[in-house]
Amino acid sequence: MGPLEFEPGLDYAHRLDEEDELASFREAFVFAEADMIYLDGNSLGRLPRRTVGRLRTAVEQEWGRDLIRGWNAGWWEASARVGEKIALLLGAGPGQVVVSDTTSINLFKLAMVALEMRAGRDRIVSDVLNFPSDLYILQGCIRLLGDSHQLHLVPSEDEMTVDQETLFDAIDERTALVTLSHVVFKSGFLYDAEAVTERAHEVGALVLWDLGHSAGVVPVELDRWDVDLAVGCTYKYLNGGPGAPAFLYVRRDLQEALSPIWGWFGQRAPFDFDLEYDRAEGIAHFLVSSPPILSTLALEPALDVVLQAGIDRIRHKSVHLTSYLIYLVETVLVPLGFVLGSPTDPAQRGSHVSIRHREGYRISQVLIEEMGVLPDFREPDNIRLGLAPLYTSFAEVWEAVDRIRRVVAERRYLRYFPGKRLGVT
Ligand SMILES: *Cc1c(COP(=O)(O)O)cnc(C)c1O
Repeated sequence: MGPLEFEPGLDYAHRLDEEDELASFREAFVFAEADMIYLDGNSLGRLPRRTVGRLRTAVEQEWGRDLIRGWNAGWWEASARVGEKIALLLGAGPGQVVVSDTTSINLFKLAMVALEMRAGRDRIVSDVLNFPSDLYILQGCIRLLGDSHQLHLVPSEDEMTVDQETLFDAIDERTALVTLSHVVFKSGFLYDAEAVTERAHEVGALVLWDLGHSAGVVPVELDRWDVDLAVGCTYKYLNGGPGAPAFLYVRRDLQEALSPIWGWFGQRAPFDFDLEYDRAEGIAHFLVSSPPILSTLALEPALDVVLQAGIDRIRHKSVHLTSYLIYLVETVLVPLGFVLGSPTDPAQRGSHVSIRHREGYRISQVLIEEMGVLPDFREPDNIRLGLAPLYTSFAEVWEAVDRIRRVVAERRYLRYFPGKRLGVT
């Protein structure tokens, strides 16, 4: 799908919607404001309709009526059960994925035990495009280990991508762990996870992928790629809701050797209340303690929608949507001073597209305040446009670009104060 294969007008966008196999999935989500174009599903996915009923049942019947009995009526197994649903989207066989904690905490848990497993090696390889929280977590791990390791961040020439050869050169016999975001949060750059994993294994390093921006929208094949460890969140393309719990993956043959936080949910028989930790078998011992049951239950209907659509169809539409958006950016917005901040090759791109403009922050404010477009903003000048294939239409993409065009052509942003940022952008 090269840029020349698209046409400019809104009629054409409607035609693409008519041909879209996933168009009917929009009806599975709540649209409370009819004219609002939501382009931040990569940060907080929309509310699936079925989640509303599921949460009502969970609150009124399971909590309200069943009370403590709920633990024996499905709550205790929820983390594993929902984990298996996520596993279906990640190409992971049973017994390797659980829902638990948050992405950052899971990263900490798995990074610490990976470094323990590769004791004697003193390098962690990541990149400058990684999600800062991931880098903070790694810096904290290094401090806890007595400053024993060095965090090597592979640079980016273009602030969008990382050159594979440069990355491969950085991974050597000193490397204990390679940890990267599969899709990077700002530019949407998508790694060839299989090739990177293979390279790490060639020199005996472990790999930990952060799937935050890829789970539910980019095909992932953890088993086939022979990935060691992975983490990711469920409130983005998996539509689990604000603060929904995260997931972790540990390849089966590594589970025995790794044992991050010893808590009672990872104990073989927690209700024996034995004073010594006796680890549960398998992926269960990567759980720590009481999970957020309401949020975990809310995930199930959300995942069912994604599974029903199927990851291949989702990816197909995602590539189509982002390619169409890039076509419109290049033809409509670049002449107005925008610069594309995402790779043009769809094989190197997740499902969000960044556009950069000197006045990016003020433009994003006008879009939110006046234009009914909800993107997000990432410093210093990136407006991120997240396209969620299950509910973003081609007409919305066209309309959003047209509204962005008007903000700049009419210089509407001049009425906003430059510089001052909201707490959450
Ligand atoms: C969203 C995101 C996170 C978020 O981490 P939390 O612990 O859920 O706050 C982490 N890593 C990546 C790559 C993300 O996109």
